[in-house]
Amino acid sequence: MARYTGPVCRFCRREGMKLFLKADRCYTDKCAFERTSYPPGQHGQARPRFSEYGQQLREKQKVKRIYGLLERQFRLYFHKAERQRGVTGENLLRLLEQRLDNVVFRLGFAGTRAEARQVVHHGHIHVNGRRVNVPSYQVRAGDVIEVQEKSRKVQRIVDSLAQAQSRPMMSWLEVDKAAFRGTIAGVPVRSEMTLPIQEQLIVELYSR
Ligand code: SF4
Repeated sequence: MARYTGPVCRFCRREGMKLFLKADRCYTDKCAFERTSYPPGQHGQARPRFSEYGQQLREKQKVKRIYGLLERQFRLYFHKAERQRGVTGENLLRLLEQRLDNVVFRLGFAGTRAEARQVVHHGHIHVNGRRVNVPSYQVRAGDVIEVQEKSRKVQRIVDSLAQAQSRPMMSWLEVDKAAFRGTIAGVPVRSEMTLPIQEQLIVELYSR
């Protein structure tokens, strides 16, 4: 599946908030959003005026960028969420949270979702004892996610685990850092997703 490989700090500037796409740098004064918080481009400093459609579009773009997806894949998640029981917006966020790359990031085996995607793709991750190198793999309650034995010395993974101490752990995940292992203890909880997301706007956008 294709992925975006260009600069990402401009996404934070475009969405008007920090999306934390660059690990450590996001917490230092090198953060581009801290220095230049207006949107990129020639008219970035003009007063933004959003129509209803514009607000819905921005919300969808924001979530897509947080999880590192392109339009087609994101739309597929939306249609899958629509077919499930319950509230479509919450279903969508739950499906995104259950992606293997997101879980690897949440467990602290990588500093960002983009890095987690690469860690998975390079075959460092085992799910229930079997190697899984598909970042979009959907985890389920009870799954055991671990860094495969010979990858436990990879400096990037070791550093990420050390730095992840300061990040809050989700209640639906359990991690044993010494064993490089995490367990899916339940389903993602909407209230724990702390970035301000109005998923209802995304539902309205795709329902037009
Ligand atoms: Fe966004 Fe700042 Fe992180 Fe860049 S460094 S991704 S602007 S939060």
